[in-house]
Amino acid sequence: MKDKIDILIKKHFPKGKEPRKEQYETIHKIVNAYINNKTHFIGQLPTGVGKSYIAIVIPKILKEINNELKQSVILTKTKALQDQYTNEFPDLVDIKGKTNYTCHLGTTYTTDVCFTNMNSNKCDKNEDCPYIKQRIHWETSKDERITNMSFFITYPKAKSDIVVIDECHTLSGELVNYGTLTINENVINEFKEKSLDNGYMNFETIVIALETFINKLNSIIIESKTLYENSQDLLKILKLRIDELEELKDENGFYNRLYNWVNDMISKISLFGKVEGDYILHLEEVKRDFSEYKIISIKPIFAYQVADFIFDKGTFFIHLSATIGDIDVYAKENGIKTYDSYECDSPFPIENRKIVYKPLIEFNYKNQENAINQTTKIVDKIIEKHKNENGLIHTSSYFIAHEIKNKSKYNSKIVVAKDSETINKYKGKKILIGPTLYEGHDFKDDFARWQILTKIPYASLGDVYVKTKTQMYPKWYSQDAANKIIQSYGRAVRHKNDKAIFYIFDTNFSKFKDSNYLPKYVREAIFLMK
Ligand code: SF4
Repeated sequence: MKDKIDILIKKHFPKGKEPRKEQYETIHKIVNAYINNKTHFIGQLPTGVGKSYIAIVIPKILKEINNELKQSVILTKTKALQDQYTNEFPDLVDIKGKTNYTCHLGTTYTTDVCFTNMNSNKCDKNEDCPYIKQRIHWETSKDERITNMSFFITYPKAKSDIVVIDECHTLSGELVNYGTLTINENVINEFKEKSLDNGYMNFETIVIALETFINKLNSIIIESKTLYENSQDLLKILKLRIDELEELKDENGFYNRLYNWVNDMISKISLFGKVEGDYILHLEEVKRDFSEYKIISIKPIFAYQVADFIFDKGTFFIHLSATIGDIDVYAKENGIKTYDSYECDSPFPIENRKIVYKPLIEFNYKNQENAINQTTKIVDKIIEKHKNENGLIHTSSYFIAHEIKNKSKYNSKIVVAKDSETINKYKGKKILIGPTLYEGHDFKDDFARWQILTKIPYASLGDVYVKTKTQMYPKWYSQDAANKIIQSYGRAVRHKNDKAIFYIFDTNFSKFKDSNYLPKYVREAIFLMK
């Protein structure tokens, strides 16, 4: 089999490109997982391995090994990553949300203007609509496809034999968000008003059923089984209404939006009680200039409670990311019971990507002021040491970022990175400091030759969701912080010849440095200084 896989790798690897050792090994591991009847493969692949080539090649190889595998899809978290793929691999069949496709009549699918156009026969949606045409093409294509996680989860007809989940460390957040049932009083009021305008009297039955359901919820943490029992009357009403709305949804924008809203609630409520687990009830009272309203959200604590949203849609799943950490924790969070996994070596030399750990400061809430003062002195020394080089300072809050900047001797050299605009403006020109630098930005080469992680970025236990989840599964809390450390570490060294030092002084890092919370390629780069 090994020889056959080698031939297939050679056949399908993009022309003019030779597979790197790490890519070659990972592809073999994935194919073996499939042959051994695993439903999931989880690969921890450091930056620089070239995940996208693996994601492109592996479906082609698997389809040749088993010709019953017809369709494949790559899922990304963001549209930006989706665009990176389609720019690099133009043959990918791509679909995004409907608002990305403006038609020749200057509108997008299912807006009010769109319905007016359709109803006055200004267009034929199957012939003219760029979104509908692309969606049908995507749905039926046997070529390699791509979309974002959100589209794949929410679009009812999205299915695929092979599913490659890129940046899979974001999957659980995506699932929990999608599994959250949100009841927004403002939205309900708008629907009420439009129902009267359209002469649709049955909306009131939904309002009454929702009120009865909400009145039964009398604790912050609710068992899935209790939610199931309390939601059945509501579900019955919603199912009655969806049958009617199915007939009406092509009439105008109001019915279409109402149909989607009811459908979305049905799919979320249908998962209550299916898997054991708790939900968190959150009430937000919103005050705007001219209105006050409530938003109630019912959020699953673990992604596995709602993982059917994705795992019911495919046959073989390949999870890839540089930031998984402890693979068992990832699998448990997402409800993956059996899987093969592989941790790849980093293609970047360790001396180019050192983590220098000097346990000097115990940074916690009780001694925050003292810790900030001590950290600022160290920050100043690092700035002096790297006086001609740019760097990044990661903090766990804007408060700490401002404190360090204000107390530093080098105040004028430091800028608090409050948003992407500020980051892009000062990148490579000033030392950036802040709590959001750890993801989504690339500080290759001279943009950053050093980084400081000032404090282990634990999530706030003041948040009831974080506190409850931590009490139930403490490893999740540590892994969440570790993922932010791994992400921060990955900002500065972006290619083989790139070089940057990552400094940590918070003594709380001792708990992480030898643990599986950090992948092997991160642990092996740690140098302890006494
Ligand atoms: S259905 Fe017609 S009006 Fe609506 S977006 Fe498509 S082409 Fe435009």
